[in-house]
Amino acid sequence: MHGSTPGGIEPVPHMRGRIIAHMARGIERPAVPINRELQHVLVINGSKAASRLLGEAIQARCGRQVEMALTLAQAVTLLADKRRKFYAAVVGLELQDAKGTRIVEFALEQGLPTIVLTGSWQEETRRSIFSYPIFDYFVKSKLGIEDVCQALNRIPLNNSTKVLVVDDSVAARDFQIAFLTAHRFHVLFAANGAEALQLLAEHPDTTLVITDNEMPLMDGITLTTRIRETRGRDELAIIGVAAKGSPATAVRFLKHGASDFLAKPFEKEEFYCRIYNCIGSIEHARAITKAAFTDPLTEMANRLAFFTQAPAIFSAAKISGEALAVAMLDIDFFKKVNDTHGHAAGDEVLRQVAALAKECLKGTGVVARFGGEEFCVICRGMNRATAWRIFDQLRGVVEASSMEYEGQTIRVTLSIGVALTPLGSLDETINHADQLLYEAKNGGRNRVVMTHSPDESGNGEEG
Ligand code: GH3
Ligand code: MG
Ligand code: MG
Ligand code: MG
Repeated sequence: MHGSTPGGIEPVPHMRGRIIAHMARGIERPAVPINRELQHVLVINGSKAASRLLGEAIQARCGRQVEMALTLAQAVTLLADKRRKFYAAVVGLELQDAKGTRIVEFALEQGLPTIVLTGSWQEETRRSIFSYPIFDYFVKSKLGIEDVCQALNRIPLNNSTKVLVVDDSVAARDFQIAFLTAHRFHVLFAANGAEALQLLAEHPDTTLVITDNEMPLMDGITLTTRIRETRGRDELAIIGVAAKGSPATAVRFLKHGASDFLAKPFEKEEFYCRIYNCIGSIEHARAITKAAFTDPLTEMANRLAFFTQAPAIFSAAKISGEALAVAMLDIDFFKKVNDTHGHAAGDEVLRQVAALAKECLKGTGVVARFGGEEFCVICRGMNRATAWRIFDQLRGVVEASSMEYEGQTIRVTLSIGVALTPLGSLDETINHADQLLYEAKNGGRNRVVMTHSPDESGNGEEG
């Protein structure tokens, strides 16, 4: 995982922007790297029937393999088998061979994010298990099982979710960092607003900032104001923190763009509830934006994404005089593919042609599905020779590909019109590319036609 240190270490007060692992009650908790190999969930629980129910839910809702142990001894055996890789443990208390919270200590000693199941809700039990750096605890019930699955799905997501903690007090900061580390977040931290801004510039994908107000150099409310100058509430969440009994600070945070407010001291549950509400709303906004700009069939940019990005590329090329290519691509006789092989096969061909186009044109600009079997591409810094090489290569690759769908082999070809220098407007340039595509179709299809050079009569392929 991102810059984690092997073995647990105490947080170093002035080490900025690193993931840190903690020692809590002498239990080592190195940050757990989540990767594809860490597929399994270890359930350690004394009741076979309850474990089976839980195991089935985890398999169905999380798509994870579940290994079950009824005792500590069985858990030791399962963990000794290095072929299985575990990424989390769900444990029930009071096992035959592990009384009280011994099993919690054991799971944490293995470096596993640990979710605890309790028989009933009791303040004393809660205090005792929350004194360990566990992931969370739930009461054994239908809702509890759902919560466990949700928590298990969260762990790998948290691993790549960046949270920035800003506080000049090392103790206050470490307190929050410990909570976040227990949930396997990618934690960044800063001692004042100025440092925080610098870190945000280095980590623009940060999801949440949790900030104190009173700090040297730049306070939390100024930091919030500065962040909101460039980052909307949909892009980045901010939680302001201040002592209980300072409602004016809470109001000022909210009025300056904070998403929420936490009054110190707070309980762990309140902390997690507020940060997950904030993170959830950012993730929803990101998902909606992604959906709005993505073609669902091919997962490439759609028309809206094209017209959001292309104007800036076009204007920059016009101003700088840099070469630019705008191309229209259309699959030949695609209706016949649908008629012969069925619509689902047609969809698969669209996906495969889109993947080939994305691959061939990678890093050149924007490649979008315009609609139907038509694609539009804008490429910056692309002169005649490069455009010819790349687009004719794509044409050749599509022609040479056999696409498989349910035992049928389907072959298609692509016609491409490429407008070379920026004309008056983006629309005019796209229209010109469309005319050249029309020429490619009339010229016999399966060919590239580019803006004609002055010494060329105009039809057909170039060499
Ligand atoms: P040409 O070589 O002149 O481009 O011929 P064509 O058959 O490719 O062109 P035409 O415009 O006549 O037909 C396009 C077809 O693309 C018709 C339509 O049913 C099909 N089509 C459009 N969108 C989709 C889609 O999302 N999935 C599938 N399977 N077919 C689609
Ligand atoms: Mg302070
Ligand atoms: Mg077509
Ligand atoms: Mg068409």
